[in-house]
Amino acid sequence: MLDKDKALVVLSGGQDSTTCLFWAKRQFKEVYAISFLYGQKHQLEVELARKIAAKANVPITVREVNFIGEISTGCSLTDSSIEMDQEKPADSLPNTFVPGRNLFFLSIAAVHARELGIKNLVTGVSQTDYSGYPDCRDAFIRSLNVTLNLAMDEQFIIHTPLMWLNKAETWRLSDELGVFDLVRHETLTCYNSIPGDGCGHCPACTLRRQGLEEYLKSKQQ
Ligand code: ZN
Repeated sequence: MLDKDKALVVLSGGQDSTTCLFWAKRQFKEVYAISFLYGQKHQLEVELARKIAAKANVPITVREVNFIGEISTGCSLTDSSIEMDQEKPADSLPNTFVPGRNLFFLSIAAVHARELGIKNLVTGVSQTDYSGYPDCRDAFIRSLNVTLNLAMDEQFIIHTPLMWLNKAETWRLSDELGVFDLVRHETLTCYNSIPGDGCGHCPACTLRRQGLEEYLKSKQQ
């Protein structure tokens, strides 16, 4: 029997999943986190995820799933020899896309949740500002929720608190949750593995900074 008061957050150590962690702490009595080593070049994010979970007083499990990075080629996040796309190519996904990543992560998270009797799964995916990643879209998450329930004969609920928020609104949410400074300085979103405000020029930093500037401006008005 899954406990409706328990939630498992997929935590990468970035802005979005960290905001979701603190959102979950508001919503549920018992919160857990899971983080993945999938062959990403920058494993610092998992170290930061551990630190953030410790600060939030949330138990974290780290799973090694390097096969995700090994079975597909052409991804700049897992293959150092590939130069990162700075923007989305017109006719394909950017090479920062890791095929199947959220499918694998959420499937493994669901099995882990089942073991611990956790009903709620939380992920920081967003359709609003996404880089064209199909596994961040609402349709995928809804479909996967049905599939996971059928696969394990359970009634999991996947929560996506950021699905319809843009980056500025995600900053606002972190502020409302009282963790604006923690998210700003202790998370890692940058594709060049620089925590906090990051390198400033990779696609992830650009998106994050534009959202931050927009939010700070809106606060002054
Ligand atoms: Zn960067």
